[in-house]
Amino acid sequence: MVMIKFGGFAMRRKDREVVDFKRMKEIAERCDCLRLGLKDEDGVYIVPLSFGMAEEDGKLFFYFHSAPEGNKINLIREQSNVSFEMDCGHQLTAGGETACTFGYKYQSIMGKGNVSLVADYDEKIRGLQLLMRHYTEKNDWTFKDGMVNHVAVLKLTVEEWTCKVCE
Ligand SMILES: Cc1cc2nc3c(=O)[nH]c(=O)nc-3n(C[C@H](O)[C@H](O)[C@H](O)COP(=O)(O)OP(=O)(O)OC[C@H]3O[C@@H](n4cnc5c(N)ncnc54)[C@H](O)[C@@H]3O)c2cc1C
Repeated sequence: MVMIKFGGFAMRRKDREVVDFKRMKEIAERCDCLRLGLKDEDGVYIVPLSFGMAEEDGKLFFYFHSAPEGNKINLIREQSNVSFEMDCGHQLTAGGETACTFGYKYQSIMGKGNVSLVADYDEKIRGLQLLMRHYTEKNDWTFKDGMVNHVAVLKLTVEEWTCKVCE
């Protein structure tokens, strides 16, 4: 059973909303960058990241790798509730003489969730494998102990999401 709810506001263009879990997952898989939105003292800090993803018992997880220090890691240590966005399938549709006759195709996902630093060694490896698989399609990457211990692995548990497709 799918355990993720949809976002708090109703989408105005219902005709563009995708609610099928499998299709939403396929669109997420097709994206190559996830933008994580964190709160900072001035407002919002948005950071683009590569990601791997996994589904377990109807829940969806994104994994990221990072240097163990920096602004994003500092902010994540202070907060767990984050927002995210990802998109793909960009294409300009040819128009005519006026700007309004042009269009833009896209597939996008927005959501909220909880992010945390992964401490467990085996889960760090799993996160790194999922990340590598997302970009290479290869499953059996291995990682040196020193690298696994040094790198920070982040896990985002998706709590709610919506998907919009403009075709
Ligand atoms: C497509 C894509 C994929 C990426 N994948 C990863 C990934 O998998 N893991 C990873 O750790 N990083 C990735 N990055 C880099 C990431 O966006 C950050 O630059 C990096 O994580 C450092 O973030 P930080 O908060 O520690 O920045 P810090 O090094 O602490 O620097 C903070 C300051 O630098 C600015 N800054 C930080 N990042 C960027 C940026 N990307 N563009 C412009 N200004 C910036 C901020 O505005 C802030 O003022 C990716 C970037 C892109 C564009």
